[in-house]
Amino acid sequence: MKAHDGMYTDGAWRAPAGREVIEVVNPADEQVIGAVPAGTAEDVDAAVRGARAAFPGWAATPPAARAERVAALRDALAARRDEIAETVTAELGAPLRLSQPVHADLPITVAGTYAKLAAEYPFEERVGNSTVYQEPVGVVAAITPWNYPLHQIVAKVAPALAAGCTVVLKPAEDTPLVAQLFAEAVDAAGLPAGVFNLVTGRGPVAGQALAEHEGVDLVSFTGSTAVGRRIGALAGGAVKRVALELGGKSANVILPGADLARAVNVGVANVFANSGQTCSAWTRMLVHAADYDEAVGLAATAAKKYPPGDPRDPATRLGPLVSAVQRDRVRGYIERGVAEGARLVAGGPEAPEGLTRGYWVAPTVFADVTPGMTIAQEEIFGPVLAVLRYEDEEEALRIANGTVYGLGGAVWAADEAAAVAFARRMDTGQVDINGGRFNPLAPFGGYKQSGVGRELGTHGLAEYLQPKSLQF
Ligand code: NAD
Repeated sequence: MKAHDGMYTDGAWRAPAGREVIEVVNPADEQVIGAVPAGTAEDVDAAVRGARAAFPGWAATPPAARAERVAALRDALAARRDEIAETVTAELGAPLRLSQPVHADLPITVAGTYAKLAAEYPFEERVGNSTVYQEPVGVVAAITPWNYPLHQIVAKVAPALAAGCTVVLKPAEDTPLVAQLFAEAVDAAGLPAGVFNLVTGRGPVAGQALAEHEGVDLVSFTGSTAVGRRIGALAGGAVKRVALELGGKSANVILPGADLARAVNVGVANVFANSGQTCSAWTRMLVHAADYDEAVGLAATAAKKYPPGDPRDPATRLGPLVSAVQRDRVRGYIERGVAEGARLVAGGPEAPEGLTRGYWVAPTVFADVTPGMTIAQEEIFGPVLAVLRYEDEEEALRIANGTVYGLGGAVWAADEAAAVAFARRMDTGQVDINGGRFNPLAPFGGYKQSGVGRELGTHGLAEYLQPKSLQF
């Protein structure tokens, strides 16, 4: 799609206050594919004022009418499904075979769930002698990252609109084109002017101005723990609501007796999907000592099925990383793993063969990883799997729970009840049992430093509501 040179505020594309632009680069070949305006505090202020002005009218719109607009937004996105997939492939580098079902279809599904929830949610209930109303929180600042660019936008904007909030979105600087496409879909869906506003720009400038703006009632942020901590502190100081979806270092725990080949192959696929740029990826595979060597062999073989290549080729399963910064960061972690004594069984820090342009990292598997190593503790955000050994279930649990994060996870066992019992002891927000599928209605979010609050389904809607009790 062609980039807009303006901001979408108060129902129209408007000229930005400044002249600076952000170039959008295709990470597969380093070509510049567009440019968007780099918003300033002035642009943010105009957007927040638009959102404030639109709030009373949208909040007073009956939920059924809000549901109709969210359904129209879903339809507008669905009508452009292929264009969404191509746009995300061009600016993120995700293979088309992932972009279509995940980067395009998932957010369309999530928008649909909120059209339904807006119509069905009990915004009013009787509790004893009270009527309790669930009212919208107000103006929402949505600050999103680049790794699942449309999904993360929809997971904030759709529930906020369903709740009756108005929104200012500041998307990631690496993936602004799909955010502009989203704004076009909002426009096509006939939402009242000012209900949704888009300001593209850099985090420390536009993002910071938005998070600090006194006209914002709730900040919903997804991104790194470092920035999330600052936003949490800012919001706390201003006594604003805040939701944070941050990093992860999730454990894939394979218990003795599990279907080892399936657990390892699904585990490898989970880490390499989206080039490892998934906050909930199972980047630590925990295997019992008796199965360890076999699991390492299976993982090394599986890695060969992910040769990096042109993301537009329908056969490609592994694209580049989003940027040179991320590539260098991930390669640095691989070097650190080697230096700390982990054993490379696939990949490594060198550029994959034959790929000279673009931000490539070889699919990498480390064996003999111990829990204290940097690659077992810090989020790498690249196609890098660490395989760790445990002697018994208690040790597996200590390792699984032994990081500052707690976002996703998996448990595999011959007996489902044993897997569930183990999962209940994990300090994490989601666990997939024996390959259980992603559920777009289940609450998604973190324990510990993986975040505050939940997205998706009714839990995601509740983030944007505040109760008011009337006694009779
Ligand atoms: P980031 O924190 O640098 O950026 C995320 C967003 O915040 C971007 O829009 C950016 O412009 C903005 N931002 C940056 N500095 C800011 C500031 N000072 N004030 C306000 N906004 C600011 O993260 P990133 O490097 O772009 O993304 C990767 C990280 O995000 C990873 O650590 C990953 O785990 C995390 N992440 C978490 C989830 C989740 O759901 N938990 C999802 C995706 C990504």
